[in-house]
Amino acid sequence: MRQSRLFTKTRREAPADETAKNAQFLIRGGYVHKEMAGVYSYLPLGLSVIKKIEGIIREEMNAIGGTEMKTSILQNKEVWEKTNRWDDGVVDNWFKTKLKNGTDVGLSWTNEEAYSNILKQYINSYKDLPIYPYDFKEIFRNEARSKSGIMRGREFYWKALYSFSKNEAEHNVFYEKAKVAYQNIFERVGIGNSTYITLSSGGTFSKSSHEFQTLTEAGEDTIYVDEQQRIAINKEVYTDEAIESLGLKKDELIEKKAVEVGNIFNLGTKFSEPFDLKYKNEKGEFESVFMGCYGIGLGRLMGTIVEVFSDDKGIVWPESVAPFKFSLVEIPSEKPEVKEMSEKIYKKLGENNVLYDDRDARAGEKFADADLLGMPYQIIVSEKNVASGKLEFKNRKTGEVKMISESEIDNLLK
Ligand code: ATP
Ligand code: MG
Repeated sequence: MRQSRLFTKTRREAPADETAKNAQFLIRGGYVHKEMAGVYSYLPLGLSVIKKIEGIIREEMNAIGGTEMKTSILQNKEVWEKTNRWDDGVVDNWFKTKLKNGTDVGLSWTNEEAYSNILKQYINSYKDLPIYPYDFKEIFRNEARSKSGIMRGREFYWKALYSFSKNEAEHNVFYEKAKVAYQNIFERVGIGNSTYITLSSGGTFSKSSHEFQTLTEAGEDTIYVDEQQRIAINKEVYTDEAIESLGLKKDELIEKKAVEVGNIFNLGTKFSEPFDLKYKNEKGEFESVFMGCYGIGLGRLMGTIVEVFSDDKGIVWPESVAPFKFSLVEIPSEKPEVKEMSEKIYKKLGENNVLYDDRDARAGEKFADADLLGMPYQIIVSEKNVASGKLEFKNRKTGEVKMISESEIDNLLK
């Protein structure tokens, strides 16, 4: 893409009320726009990152048998009354509104009830199970705190998968597969090394759950990490019993700040029984469906990647989620060869792989912008470079610069 065609511009300063590093850089880079505390719009570059993350999650969910669907955002009060989760005294973060005729509706803050209610129509026999539907969706929560930028939104985009199994044993098999799929996702988006599977509280759902916690000072959680075994325990459940159950030793565990990028729960029959979600087993008897849920916040994941990899100059995207693999920086010149060479490289690498800074701007401004925007590699075309027959090729992460010949450009896409 040509940067001259990008309507967003970089900014020197983030809004004064924005304290989170992830949002400061993303706003300055024109990736997101802050509508209000906890509410962000995704601009073209930001949406591109979200779509890349979404693509990776979709592949991993489909690989373990997931089937994508989309549940509505407006939710029916009666459905949520079945589990006693309509009441504001029970769930304190609903956004609710009314239809013209006075009927109450709520904006989805989670999906369990919606899924149980829909799937009830389609699950009758043991032959219908197991199934793993999921969706990507906007979620609305009237969160009390919103100081973590896009890592804690009042409106945010997530993936939630629900597993419907015949019994606990069948559930457990899928649960283990989901753990691996989650590890693959975090590995593929670049934060595998700093993400720990973490034993946590099951809240009102179950005895315990597993969270995927990424180490960062920007995290709101405290976890205790065993670096050797690559597992952790959330402070919420840091009791002797939990440590023993994992075979860990207290005096080697290290306290760290972390952010929950995803979590998986065993729901048992908590959301099938209220909906009378049952199937007929092989003997013709009715049994309750055994459920699990598996969430990931895409905005939170994107914010976490920014927190983990940025430096004092700006964002550093891992290749898998970068809007473009390359920034092509043309240093404006009177000599037509500079533009000619830039255009040639742009064509070679393709508009989907390169953000081509074709603007009429000072070199310093262009370098600062390329660093702020954080594409993994920068190719610099200047008068000097063109004359010498070698171009500067800079690795954004390491800062390492090497000189490459025009013919080597072809290998860069491999
Ligand atoms: P937290 O403990 O951080 O409040 P949660 O346990 O309430 O999150 P879930 O309801 O299980 O989260 O949601 C699933 C996933 O959605 C979380 O693992 C997280 O990645 C993401 N998520 C939750 N709340 C938010 C939010 N306010 N903004 C962005 N992402 C969120
Ligand atoms: Mg949680």
